[in-house]
Amino acid sequence: MTQKILVIFGTRPEAIKLFPVVHALDALDGVTPIVCVTAQHREILDQVLEIGKIVPDYDLDIMQPDQTLDALTARLLTKIGAVMDEVQPDRVIVQGDTATAMVGALAAYYRKIPVGHVEAGLRSYNIYHPWPEEVNRKMIGTIADLHFAPTQTSANALLKEAVNPDHVHITGNTVIDALHWVTDLIAQKPEMAGGLDELKARFAGKRIIGVTSHRRENFGGGLENIAKAIAAIAKRDDVALIFPVHPNPNVRKVMDAELKDLDNVAMIEPLDYPHFVHLLSLVELMLTDSGGVQEEAPALGKPVLVMRETTERPEGVEAGTAKLVGTDYETIVANTTRLLDDKAEYDRMARAHNPFGDGKSSKRIAQLALNAAGKSAH
Ligand code: UDP
Repeated sequence: MTQKILVIFGTRPEAIKLFPVVHALDALDGVTPIVCVTAQHREILDQVLEIGKIVPDYDLDIMQPDQTLDALTARLLTKIGAVMDEVQPDRVIVQGDTATAMVGALAAYYRKIPVGHVEAGLRSYNIYHPWPEEVNRKMIGTIADLHFAPTQTSANALLKEAVNPDHVHITGNTVIDALHWVTDLIAQKPEMAGGLDELKARFAGKRIIGVTSHRRENFGGGLENIAKAIAAIAKRDDVALIFPVHPNPNVRKVMDAELKDLDNVAMIEPLDYPHFVHLLSLVELMLTDSGGVQEEAPALGKPVLVMRETTERPEGVEAGTAKLVGTDYETIVANTTRLLDDKAEYDRMARAHNPFGDGKSSKRIAQLALNAAGKSAH
């Protein structure tokens, strides 16, 4: 009998980390993956669906301007629940820590459908950083019966919370699978990442720094400090900063006010995944508050300065590829300057080992989901 596995996601990072899992499930006999997207991020999700060659079976198109977390959560629950009632899946798979993932797990629990959690066990141990993701991820962890922990550290966090060790599997992070897929795609068709050619010409001879910033907990003062720090770094003649700006208006407004007219700063639209991966290959270092970028940049040997107070991905910091610099203006500027001017420090970070996976995580996850079929987990 074939297993129906409903894979649910809604944002760009979830799509990046789940399209390889959908491919891997598709490749197995005895499994039919069914994809439901909530489109919690609309446009930047669609870019990934196209690149990852995913055609959703259900598209809930949930995004509304200025929606509150309450309204988003409520609408997700009724809409995802209705899909589950129609599909009657044998298993649900969600990824990470978004509202979509948390509600997907909850709706499955209400129907006693087992849940597999991709990227399980990441913890910052601060429920307001990242907010509300830390709690979303913990809630999924209490429901799931298959915990796909990317690293030993994340597996340990689950075991410490008394999760049944038989349900915890160290798989690596599927983001590395996605990175390999896209790198191969660009190698075959370089024009897929050709949209950066103009910027490369404009900044020829400069040392490129990549920037992303969009965390909810940095809205307000944190983002303002980040913007001021970027402006200070951009005063150097030898650097250029390329900053794909997240569509969230809270981010755009602050960045526009500080950075719009600076010669050495290019604030650009969010890049599709191949262009972003190409940008990662061009930069000397990344300044970011993103989760996924903390995992991808080390895989490409690029040091990462993490503009957050805490990280649920301590592996990068422990391995020496990433450094937590928070959102303090002076700390961001000082650490960036050090990486630019201290070659030994730069080489130390660039050469550190990537702790996040070998690119085969999705296959492991698909096989584990298939093996679990029919077994009652809890
Ligand atoms: N990313 C992208 N285009 C961009 C910026 C980021 O494709 O313009 C990708 C990036 O490679 C990473 C993911 O989006 O895989 C990270 O998403 P985001 O920073 O939005 O979320 P987080 O990882 O913090 O949850």
